[in-house]
Amino acid sequence: MIDVLPADAPPTDLDATVRRVDDGVATLDVRDLGPSRGDGIFETIGVIGGHPQALDAHLARLANSAALLDLPVPHEAQWRRAIGRAAASLPADRQGGLKVVLTRGLEGPGAPTGWIVATPADGDFPERETGIRVVTLDRGYASDVAVRAPWLLPGAKTLSYAVNMAALREARRRGADDVIFLTSDGFVMEAPTSTVILRFGDRIVTPRTDIGILPGTSQLSVFAFAAARGLHTVEAKIPVARLAEADAAWLVSSVRLAAPITHLNAAAMGVDVELTRAMNDALLARQA
Ligand code: PLP
Repeated sequence: MIDVLPADAPPTDLDATVRRVDDGVATLDVRDLGPSRGDGIFETIGVIGGHPQALDAHLARLANSAALLDLPVPHEAQWRRAIGRAAASLPADRQGGLKVVLTRGLEGPGAPTGWIVATPADGDFPERETGIRVVTLDRGYASDVAVRAPWLLPGAKTLSYAVNMAALREARRRGADDVIFLTSDGFVMEAPTSTVILRFGDRIVTPRTDIGILPGTSQLSVFAFAAARGLHTVEAKIPVARLAEADAAWLVSSVRLAAPITHLNAAAMGVDVELTRAMNDALLARQA
């Protein structure tokens, strides 16, 4: 648990503001607006060898989500220190993940609540090689949602993920592993917990974030990797018909990393085995 400091707090012993809590020990006030209203934000950060990955990008996105929800600006040094400690608590020989949470706190006084949950991965993520089956589902928002209805908080990583989880259950009912959300006007968005990346020849393409999706930290890393290999990287508004025309496609995210899409709505897709392997090697090698 973290005694959340304001961004401009005077210098203090940051370690004294972070309290380690063992599994099964009650810590959260049930009146907190995070669990009861989903009123808060989070980050999921991959951990390799006891180190958090892409930490700068995650901290930047946490600050952006806080701004979008009118939450206090996070104290960067405090969160950096707390995240480092949580990552170091995981076994160094296993991959893992951190869930970093900041809520609006208790109704009334308005002091935010913060905590981090560190979890070792229970396996080696075989889907990075075997791939995933994906279905497309309508997200119900048009591609101009960010302009027309910013109060829906597109682009913020809020705790309100019930819809994302329901979509994953719908995918399983349809015999698939994951989802690509579409806008109601027919453009490719994102997956419930990952970003879509497509390859067309030597072009690596991802949906533009201004259609109302979350900017992905893994996508940023994949674009840096692709540019270093001489591939062209493009952010575009992608009509749904283009999905099936891609030479290869992936869902990328911080813990699972790059999962190649083997089937789209039950139709087989091309899989680029060599590029997938190189992409995952690059993602695994990231430092903060
Ligand atoms: N899009 C959504 C809706 C997500 O929830 C996530 C991650 O959880 C992503 C994209 C991928 O982001 P990242 O690569 O930073 O994990």
